Amino acid sequence: MTPTIGVLALQGDVREHLAALERVGAAGRSVRREAELDGLHGIVLPGGESTTMDKLMRAFGLRDPLRAALGAGLPAYGSCAGMILLADRVLDGPADQETLGGIDMTVRRNAFGRQVASFEGDVEMAGVAGGPLHGVFIRAPWVEDVGPAVEVLARVEEGEAAGRIVAVRQGSLLATSFHPEMTGDGRVHELFVRIVKERQT
Ligand code: GLN
Repeated sequence: MTPTIGVLALQGDVREHLAALERVGAAGRSVRREAELDGLHGIVLPGGESTTMDKLMRAFGLRDPLRAALGAGLPAYGSCAGMILLADRVLDGPADQETLGGIDMTVRRNAFGRQVASFEGDVEMAGVAGGPLHGVFIRAPWVEDVGPAVEVLARVEEGEAAGRIVAVRQGSLLATSFHPEMTGDGRVHELFVRIVKERQT
């Protein structure tokens, strides 16, 4: 059965995620209102600005329903700002920044510093076969620490940040620091669709 996967569409690179989902055989749906969560098999939280998304989620009355949906087991994939939204703990955010949470991890916002705020590099990711992904990092977070239930899927391979965690999974929640939706490589979305289907059956 074709899964229907939402993309939180308050801000950020929504179109690219919808296109990537369609390419790997899911039906995509923009989500701006609570009612649009109905019947979803999974949801993507896109890149953008996590503080802005936090404010908009509250303003649109989406934050609590989303938290409830994740709490009830709705699979989610967060890229970049979306990774921050799935983190239980955030460093270097404003004091009033809240997340949806769900992944037992601490993320550091804009972690790669000013000099290398945006960069690209190869990333080997567990669960993604066929060679390294082309990782596009844009003012990206990294994962500072993870709890025991979190599977580390990828780390930065070279340079000053070598060893930093940039992809994780906890149950049916998946998160990457980088933006696979910008590369035309559908393998991370494919992995997410597999996670969604595992829950459907
Ligand atoms: N720096 C952004 C934040 O903290 C994330 C950037 C991105 O999603 N490309 O939300």
